[in-house]
Amino acid sequence: MPETTVMDKLISLAKRRGFIFPSGELYGGLQGFWDFGPLGVELKNNIKRSWWKRFVQERGDVVGLDAAIVTNPKVWEKSGHVEGFADELVECKKCHHRFKADDIANSESHMANGRKCPDCGGELTQSRKFNTMFKTFVGPVEDSSSVAYMRPETAQNIFVNFDTIRQSMRLKIPFGIAQIGKAFRNEITPGNFIFRSREFEQMEIEYFVHPKDDEKWFEAWVAASHTWFTDMGLKADNLRKYEQKKEELAHYAKRTIDIEYKFPFEKGWAELMGIANRTDYDLKAHGLKYRDEVSTEEFIPYVIEPSAGVDRAALAFLLDAYQEVEGGRTTTTESNKEKEIVLRLHKELAPVKVAVLPLSKKEQLSSVAKDIASSLRNKFVTMYDEIASIGRRYRRQDEIGTPFCVTVDFDSLEDKKVTVRDRDTMKQDRIPIAELEDYLTEQLRT
Ligand code: ATP
Repeated sequence: MPETTVMDKLISLAKRRGFIFPSGELYGGLQGFWDFGPLGVELKNNIKRSWWKRFVQERGDVVGLDAAIVTNPKVWEKSGHVEGFADELVECKKCHHRFKADDIANSESHMANGRKCPDCGGELTQSRKFNTMFKTFVGPVEDSSSVAYMRPETAQNIFVNFDTIRQSMRLKIPFGIAQIGKAFRNEITPGNFIFRSREFEQMEIEYFVHPKDDEKWFEAWVAASHTWFTDMGLKADNLRKYEQKKEELAHYAKRTIDIEYKFPFEKGWAELMGIANRTDYDLKAHGLKYRDEVSTEEFIPYVIEPSAGVDRAALAFLLDAYQEVEGGRTTTTESNKEKEIVLRLHKELAPVKVAVLPLSKKEQLSSVAKDIASSLRNKFVTMYDEIASIGRRYRRQDEIGTPFCVTVDFDSLEDKKVTVRDRDTMKQDRIPIAELEDYLTEQLRT
């Protein structure tokens, strides 16, 4: 399959099956904004739940936070964002398209033709700084005294709450504060589907350590982050660690390693998440420090920051899971001998865990199947489907990554058993209805 078309196929599947579509599409959409439909919201919730479980609930040293999106503007002044959270923007004098200066400098057309517009070859303006924070006004008067910003990252809210949280939870270094939430950036060139949007979600941890331990914790967080992605199903071959060179580092960072995914666009590899050693830059900027109660030593902790995008992770999981099987993968009774799509999402991430399918729409079967579906709903996201042939219904479920399909047939009325089909192995097991919930729980756990 030519790589360039995988994205198009995924975008079309995402829309057709209710994962993701352009926001406000009825009115032509709004560039850089996306809506997550019924299956998209389940997928995103599953990603966030898995990350939170791994990095907050299962550890004793990380606590959570859900801070406000619109923050006191002083936070962004002190953090340096008002002054420096900017991209260099250039504009084509002919077609008026705008570009990030960095993108132009790295583009193939730049290498070939010098500094020209990649779209029309026109002359480009000098670059100028463009602050990518979204501004808003708080209260009824729209003047400079009421300006506030939509947070461009979740990190700063963590720093400014450092002391309050440390005291309330009686935390001792090393410890971390995690937050999942929306961030907003007025990106000059949003694109590549949900890879770069103007409204997105981040999963971030600020992990506070003694300055002498920073390297050890930095390495530990790089390893733990990489492991989470592979545990959740990303193929190791599609992931790599890229250490930023000195000249690429943000002004606050001592070291940064990006975990990159082999996306099917641009140069292939692009940042999925970053792990930065932010030193004491942020706590210093906000005038915060730490005192060890036992040794009475006072110091400004260093901060290790693993920062991942939920939407970018969702895109990587979807791309990695997307598979087309030529000529069909199903048995002869199910087969349509056409290309079939299977979304081999990790079971924990799959939006729907189980589909209940009566063999036919006959009342005898559908009433049993509906009862089964409604009892399974207490435990799993369950879909009921009685429309179209059983083969088509299997394919519909494969396409959205449902790990298990439960079929109710005429024998079920006699032997009180159903057939459970596994998405990946296509193995079919005959299971007593009374044991179905336990069976699925076990299968989804392993
Ligand atoms: P990039 O270089 O791609 O612009 P960044 O280095 O500015 O990313 P960070 O500020 O480190 O990104 O943000 C952490 C994570 O948040 C990124 O690794 C990415 O997963 C996600 N992210 C950042 N910007 C966007 C965006 N515009 N749309 C979607 N996700 C984003």
